[in-house]
Amino acid sequence: MTIQTGSVPTAPPVLVWLRKLGDAAVDLLFPPRCVICHRLGAWLCAACIEEIEFIQPPVCTHCGLPLETSIPNPGTRTLCDRCQHTPSALDAQRSLAYHGGPLRAAIHEFKYRDLRSLAVPLARLMAARWATLAPCPDFGTIVPVPLHPRRQRERGYNQAALLARELGTCFAKPVDEGVLVRTRATAPQVGLSPVDRQHNVQGAFRCTSDDLSGMHVLLVDDVCTTGSTLESACLALREAGVTSVQAYTLARAKPSGLEP
Ligand SMILES: [Zn+2]
Ligand SMILES: [Zn+2]
Repeated sequence: MTIQTGSVPTAPPVLVWLRKLGDAAVDLLFPPRCVICHRLGAWLCAACIEEIEFIQPPVCTHCGLPLETSIPNPGTRTLCDRCQHTPSALDAQRSLAYHGGPLRAAIHEFKYRDLRSLAVPLARLMAARWATLAPCPDFGTIVPVPLHPRRQRERGYNQAALLARELGTCFAKPVDEGVLVRTRATAPQVGLSPVDRQHNVQGAFRCTSDDLSGMHVLLVDDVCTTGSTLESACLALREAGVTSVQAYTLARAKPSGLEP
């Protein structure tokens, strides 16, 4: 069963204006508090945003992780060691920040505590950094990584779709939530080895039509650990004739070599 179908076009200006008016009214009645420090005024305050460990260029052209600073001239090298030896269906992968500190706590509230309003500040941070991180900032449409329908019913929403919708507004691009679907309910990836993660999500996605054929897609998810989910979703998009797939996640697990 498809949860939502078709592309979501950018809302007409009057609807955007009405939505902003509605949001302002709600903020007046229930002023937001920072989910980290509980300061009044915003769901994520400027001081807590400062504490987020953003991924800084130069990054590997493919996986988006920082290139080793110890190599003589990072500017001349584009692929990290891992990407030079690991084939991938993705054209590029980027993440805003490492999954830790205030960002980890915010994602937990966003994903498991029904704090959907966090999609707005989190996606705006993603939008603001995209051009500095991406090798090819332009794309045609945004596709969120889907949840299995059962998981979505339990949670009530797909956090990746909420981020994708807000990114669609920021970039003035359509969001397609209907074509890519998750056909298999997979076990949670947490606690699995990289190889088991790969097997867990293999063949878990498919496209219900060829509507995305020839498109340049920005695939969006909240967290990336080993990249197995993004790879699997990307393969399904490729099978449906998608021309290019860049993946963008809010957070990314820090690879073992980069841990403090
Ligand atoms: Zn704060
Ligand atoms: Zn790489």
